[in-house]
Amino acid sequence: MNQKAIVIGAGIGGLTAGALLAKHGMEVILLEASSEFGGSAGKFKRKSYLFPVGATLGMGLEPGGIHERVFRYLEKPLLIEPLETVMEMVHPEATFTFIKDRQRHVDELVRHFPDHKKNIRGFYKEIYQTAAIVRTLMGPLPALPPSTIKEWIDLMSSIRLQHSQLLPLFHQTLGHRLKRHHLDNLTPFRQMLDGLLIDSMQTDSGHVSFLLAAVALDIYHEGAYYVPGGLYQFAELMASSIQENGGVVKKRRTITKLEQNDGQWLATDQRGNLYSAKNVVLNIPIHQLPSLMAPDLIAKLKKPLREGLKTPTWTTLTLYMAIDESKLQAPLLPFRQISTGAGDSLTEGEHFFMSASLPGDSLRAPTGFQTVTVSTHSKAQLWNTKEKYDTMREVLTERILKAIDQVIPHFRDAIVHLETGAPKGWERYTGRLNGYVGGFPQTLDNALFNSISHRSGLPGLYVCGDHIFPGGGTIGAAASGIHAARSIAGSRLI
Ligand SMILES: Cc1cc2nc3c(=O)[nH]c(=O)nc-3n(C[C@H](O)[C@H](O)[C@H](O)COP(=O)(O)OP(=O)(O)OC[C@H]3O[C@@H](n4cnc5c(N)ncnc54)[C@H](O)[C@@H]3O)c2cc1C
Repeated sequence: MNQKAIVIGAGIGGLTAGALLAKHGMEVILLEASSEFGGSAGKFKRKSYLFPVGATLGMGLEPGGIHERVFRYLEKPLLIEPLETVMEMVHPEATFTFIKDRQRHVDELVRHFPDHKKNIRGFYKEIYQTAAIVRTLMGPLPALPPSTIKEWIDLMSSIRLQHSQLLPLFHQTLGHRLKRHHLDNLTPFRQMLDGLLIDSMQTDSGHVSFLLAAVALDIYHEGAYYVPGGLYQFAELMASSIQENGGVVKKRRTITKLEQNDGQWLATDQRGNLYSAKNVVLNIPIHQLPSLMAPDLIAKLKKPLREGLKTPTWTTLTLYMAIDESKLQAPLLPFRQISTGAGDSLTEGEHFFMSASLPGDSLRAPTGFQTVTVSTHSKAQLWNTKEKYDTMREVLTERILKAIDQVIPHFRDAIVHLETGAPKGWERYTGRLNGYVGGFPQTLDNALFNSISHRSGLPGLYVCGDHIFPGGGTIGAAASGIHAARSIAGSRLI
């Protein structure tokens, strides 16, 4: 085979597509705007500290998990540390522990809510049974929404009798199922679920698709991992795999124009260099497309993709800190969620995810220090003037530090380095317009058959990343990369 594909953007989606295609024998050229691979799952360094840009919690690395299958196909083993205790979830009324073992996890929740024992057990039975059925589709990994005869055949041939049990649940939200189990008014329990869902599904229990929520709540039990150094290792491994398989990877190449000519795609970078191929995988955040492609090409994109270009998502404020362990009573846990909102607020510093390097992870920090990343969801319109921007950054930083201090005594005194990643910083370093991160909320309107296909609607042009089916997280981005690679290769690959 001597076909060529251009991959634009070295996020997890683009790297997965590029690495699979190169391993399959295709000539791959990957063009990345920044000086680092990985995008939202990349890294940056400050003195002797290494910070993950965004993603920190590794999933899909268990045998048969999406990333594990990719790394196995690429013959690239990855060093990982499985977590028996996945995270601590701090809420105003209780602190919960997310335990990997399903039975122990439910027992722990029942301990908090003994009066609701039967309902909680029934709820989790349904969650785990549903997730187990959905998971059987992750092997064949059919692409949604199917848009070619082959994709329909792949979908139909993936379906087994047991999948008929999912049909009545297709149009249900998690909120519907909570009501069914009489748990919708158990506020601390629902808020704990909301906290997990906003971070993984970008929406809360009232709006999230039940089928996806079941997978999201179950996936940590399949395996949650600490990756020494950070998840940037995914990106580095895949980039090196592309090169080892004869591909070319180029950093500091921002694509500024994408045109179509005579069955070929032509991409131009900021230096005026021209790259051409019949197939292009676009892993750039989709909101950028109108600035790259002429209006007549944009008009030919599939409708859900065209509509997605105009639809905002959450933005984030991220804090990057290095701390001196000797100033704390105990080293920081690797993963923790903190919610302070007495109401339902999951945004603007009232709910945030906090990750720390494990003590002794010398790739992240020197002995005696840990690096910490904290991120909170925020609405982009709250940052749209200079005045609002500066105020938001200051107020949210203070709100987050105050909340951490209440959970971890003397935290503030232990900080030896602090910087913030506000929406414009995200836009500058990852190309995410207005700092829109995380992909679309997995509501009934956006999920599954209503999501955006990896097929753009233009021949030879494929899209991948967390805006594309199946959605956010490194697993979702990788899955869309797999779909793009499969469509170009005309083979299942993994
Ligand atoms: C704060 C935060 C925390 C998160 N935590 C987790 C977590 O713990 N676990 C998890 O699984 N997921 C997590 N996620 C989600 C996960 O990081 C993302 O969903 C995933 O990494 C997105 O991958 P992507 O393929 O969409 O590419 P992106 O990360 O969007 O990367 C796109 C790449 O394209 C490049 N690019 C952009 N424009 C151009 C251009 N014009 N030309 C060339 N290149 C260009 C960018 O520089 C970038 O490298 C988190 C996200 C955030 C924001």
